Amino acid sequence: MKERHRSLIIGQGLAGSILALTFFELGHDFVIIDNGDEKGSSWVAAGIANPITGRRLSITWLAEHLFPFLNQAYPRWEQLLGATFFHPIPVFRPAMSIAEQNDFEGLCASEGYREFLKPGKIKGNFPQLRLSDGVFTLQSGWLDVPPFLKAVREFFTNKGQYHVQNISYDQFDISIHGLIFGGEHFDRVIFSEGISMLQNPWFNYLPLKPAKGEILELLTEQSYPNYILNRGCFLLPLTPGRLKIGATYSWAELDDKPSKSAEAELLKKAEVFGLASYQIFEHKAGIRPATIDRRPFLGAHPSGNALYIFNGFGSKGVSLIPYFAKELAEHLLSGKELMKEINISRFLSFYQDHEIFNS
Ligand SMILES: Cc1cc2nc3c(=O)[nH]c(=O)nc-3n(C[C@H](O)[C@H](O)[C@H](O)COP(=O)(O)OP(=O)(O)OC[C@H]3O[C@@H](n4cnc5c(N)ncnc54)[C@H](O)[C@@H]3O)c2cc1C
Repeated sequence: MKERHRSLIIGQGLAGSILALTFFELGHDFVIIDNGDEKGSSWVAAGIANPITGRRLSITWLAEHLFPFLNQAYPRWEQLLGATFFHPIPVFRPAMSIAEQNDFEGLCASEGYREFLKPGKIKGNFPQLRLSDGVFTLQSGWLDVPPFLKAVREFFTNKGQYHVQNISYDQFDISIHGLIFGGEHFDRVIFSEGISMLQNPWFNYLPLKPAKGEILELLTEQSYPNYILNRGCFLLPLTPGRLKIGATYSWAELDDKPSKSAEAELLKKAEVFGLASYQIFEHKAGIRPATIDRRPFLGAHPSGNALYIFNGFGSKGVSLIPYFAKELAEHLLSGKELMKEINISRFLSFYQDHEIFNS
C-alpha cells in the first residue's frame, strides 16, 4: 500500500473546493477527486453573496459571522491562486412606494441591519421604477464561480492532490479506523457531491430538498450601474454590455435542462429594471442541494465509520461555505464541536428509520 493521507474529499464544486483551500491553509494533508463533468450547481450559480434577502429583506442566518469571514477569505484565495474572482459590490433593492421606502429606512437604522443596509438612490433612468430610492447592501458581492473552480483544480493538480474520476461507492473499503480507496489509505472521506448525494448509500437518508434554478446571460447595449439590482429577480452586471438575470426556483422538475417557461419568466421579471433590448448569450439550469430545514449537512455518519459529509448549501453556497469549511476543519483537526443546527446528528431518527426499513 502507498502513503497514508489524512482526508479524501469527493466532489470539487464550491463545497469541495473551499474545503480543500481551507485544509491547505491549515497544512492538513488531503486528496480531492471530482468527475470533471463541470455540470454541478456551482457551474451554474450567479455567485451572489447577499446578507439581506427575500421579499421582506431578511438578514441571512449568521450574517454577522459569514460576511466578515467571506470578505477576508475570497481575497486571500485570490492571492493564493493568482487571479481575481470576487467582486465586492452592493445589491440595490428599489422601493416601490414612499411608504415602503420609509419602512426600508426604519430597517436600516435597526439593530442587526445597520452593518448590512443603508438607504440610497439608483443612478440612471429607470422609468419602470416609481422611485429612484431604495436600499443598498453592505458587505455583499459576487464570485465568478467557474474560473474560481478551474483555478482551484489547476492549483491542486499541480500539487498532485487532485484527480479526475467518477467514483462509485463500492470502491470504498471502510471501517472505523479509516478507509482504503484506490489502493491508498485515508483517515476519512468527506462527501461534497451536491445533489449526487441522493445516490450515496451512506448519506441518502438525509432530507435533501433539491431546487432547480435557471439563469440567463444576456448581451445588451443598455447600460446599468455597477451594482446588483434586486426586485423579484436579480440583474447582475458582468462587464459593459453583458449581464446575468436570475434565478428561478422549481421543486417539481428536477432536471438540469433549460426551459422556455423559465426564460420567459426571467425576461418578464427583468422588465422592472427597464430591460428591453438584448440577445440571449447563454441559458443555464442546475439543481441546488437545498435541505428541508435550510441548514447545511455537516458531520460524521452515525455508524461511527470514517465517513463525513459537507453538503446542503442550497441557494447560498458562496456565503455559507467559507465559514462552515472552517467549522468542519476545526471539528476534524481540533475536536471543536459542530453547531447543532448544522450537525447531521439532528437527523438521527431519519437514519434509524432508514436502517429499520432496509433491514
Ligand atoms: C440557477 C442557480 C443560481 C444560483 N445562484 C447562486 C448565487 O447567486 N449565490 C449562491 O451562493 N449560490 C447560488 N446557487 C447555489 C450554489 O450553486 C450552491 O449553493 C453551491 O454551488 C453548491 O455547491 P456544492 O459543491 O455543494 O455542489 P455542486 O456544485 O453540485 O458540486 C458537486 C461536485 O461533485 C461532483 N460529483 C458528484 N458525484 C460525483 C462522483 N460520483 N464522483 C466524482 N465527483 C462527483 C460533481 O461533478 C460536482 O463537481 C445557485 C444555484 C443555481 C442552480
